[in-house]
Amino acid sequence: SRAAARAILRRPAASWRGERIKLFINIQHVGDLDHADAQFADGVGLMRTEFLLTDDGGLPDEETQFQAYDAVLRWAGQRPVTIRTFDAGGDKPVLGFTHDGEANPFLGVRGLRLCLAQPGIFAVQLRALARAAVRGNLKVMFPMVTSVEELEAGRKLFAHVVAELQANGIAAALPELGIMVEVPAAALAIANFKASFFSIGSNDLAQYVLACDRSNGALANLLDPLHPAVIELIKRTAEHGRLTGTSVSLCGDMAGDPRCTSTLLECGLRELSVNASTLAPIKQAVDRLSGGGTHG
Ligand code: PEP
Ligand code: MG
Repeated sequence: SRAAARAILRRPAASWRGERIKLFINIQHVGDLDHADAQFADGVGLMRTEFLLTDDGGLPDEETQFQAYDAVLRWAGQRPVTIRTFDAGGDKPVLGFTHDGEANPFLGVRGLRLCLAQPGIFAVQLRALARAAVRGNLKVMFPMVTSVEELEAGRKLFAHVVAELQANGIAAALPELGIMVEVPAAALAIANFKASFFSIGSNDLAQYVLACDRSNGALANLLDPLHPAVIELIKRTAEHGRLTGTSVSLCGDMAGDPRCTSTLLECGLRELSVNASTLAPIKQAVDRLSGGGTHG
């Protein structure tokens, strides 16, 4: 019930083996925050911005985007808000933006690849984000990063946009820049990526490691994020974060599945980002693993 969930959320912050476990929320629309209370979360771990793109390929203008990002920052107060740049394509086609007729859209021009191929559209989003960056604790991350060159190309465009805004007397800043770890190549070559933080996208990571289309129901049993090969990559990514002092979170669906919580903590993760509706169950799962909290 709602009351039971609030009681769990009111308890002291989650910890495990003496370490604080940070729990963030995933959102798609500003409206997702209507029933979420910022004091019960460590911030927003993932805002999926591709849902701002309308189904007819309409791109929200800079001001509309800025207002959306700013509203999330205001909700969060001083808590960090991680906004992901447009991740269109694959399971999230956008008419008029994503490429039609690709034989393998999941292996196609999507995510950051598509944004780098459309720098005009990408620059509008980066401008809105750069303006929002001076208004709160904003972090920005790129989706579907495969190579270091893509990260650096995105960073360069972002820096260019910030310099341009500032030259025009508009308040703007380059926020902390991170990447999603959801392409196996990024997980395997993680040491090469100079990012401020990493966020594991276990939905896509599992899809690509296991060669199972995430939207194909016939493969649901095989698409297991607890497969040892997926867990191995999660563990390595968490270890890399620990060794380099870089924050690593996990924002895929398994973060919100209490059956996965102990494995994720054992992998070394200390930050999970989940849908607001699963914040209480995950906090309860951590409490139980710590031997604390109210059982039952
Ligand atoms: C993921 O891939 O795990 C993820 C968090 O992003 P999305 O589900 O939006 O692809
Ligand atoms: Mg993904």
